[in-house]
Amino acid sequence: MTIKAFVIGHPINHSRSPLIHRTWLAEHGIDGSYEPIDVPPDALPAFFDRLRSGEFAGGNVTIPHKQTVFALCDEVDPLARTIGAVNTLVVRDSKVLGSNTDYLGFLGNLDAGAPQWERSAQPAIVLGAGGAARAILVALQNRQIPVHLLNRTLATAESLAADIGGAITPGALSDFNALAPAAGLVVNTTSIGLHGTRFEGFDLGRLPDNGLVTDIVYAPLLTPLLADAKARGLRTVDGLGMLLHQAVPGFAAWFGVAPQVTPALRRAVEASLEP
Ligand code: NAP
Repeated sequence: MTIKAFVIGHPINHSRSPLIHRTWLAEHGIDGSYEPIDVPPDALPAFFDRLRSGEFAGGNVTIPHKQTVFALCDEVDPLARTIGAVNTLVVRDSKVLGSNTDYLGFLGNLDAGAPQWERSAQPAIVLGAGGAARAILVALQNRQIPVHLLNRTLATAESLAADIGGAITPGALSDFNALAPAAGLVVNTTSIGLHGTRFEGFDLGRLPDNGLVTDIVYAPLLTPLLADAKARGLRTVDGLGMLLHQAVPGFAAWFGVAPQVTPALRRAVEASLEP
């Protein structure tokens, strides 16, 4: 019997998830399907009834449903609650279990792109305190890495640091240059970098020579921050790998095979991003 999975969102045409999961289905010769389904917000409860009927093994959740589905899931992973978003659903025994794999995607991307990165990552500077920053903070806590959380709006960084707890020190973007000499890792989670926008006044020359800079923005792949870090001779990891690696746990849960993020998969998704 064909094992079925999905991604739900509204709209859904932009999602790269079908390309990723269909590539893996073909690679492993699995009798499975992965379909994008446009579910408007008012149709979500009916879709969850459909899920409990056993039609699907599970699927992904994207904008605008990542928060709404909390109330509809039968169980939610505690880390997804801390991150504040569910992006993966697994159906077991007529129950829908919600989790968040973005933090695993972030870690998988760094583990693959900069092996042993944690050895020199302490402390880290995380730029931005929006929705995506929450998954990054959970990921860095998972590896016991203390963080300076810098944001344009200081109050947002303060409330996020208090909400997540642990070794997270809030600050302003203007603190970057003072903190840089001791920082082993810089992570951009703001939308700066999208369409080629750049941080003003950052002196990457102040980062240690073994510093690592990563950006979760992946359009363009080489953001100005990454380009500047490369020019300074620092190690860099781009954001596309996070998108690819966050898909691994869902595929493994639905189809029973742990897939690999291969260069061929990356090339296929990269090609789909080209204008
Ligand atoms: P969000 O919740 O809207 O947060 C945006 C963040 O960017 C906030 O910290 C905001 O600061 C900051 N910001 C926006 N414009 C700024 C500016 N002009 N100057 C300084 N700071 C600015 O967005 P999000 O959901 O966290 O997503 C952020 C980015 O991550 C997006 O580009 C998204 O595509 C990317 N992303 C990538 C992946 C992946 O798999 N690679 C996954 C998730 C998200 P304030 O608090 O001051 O407004």
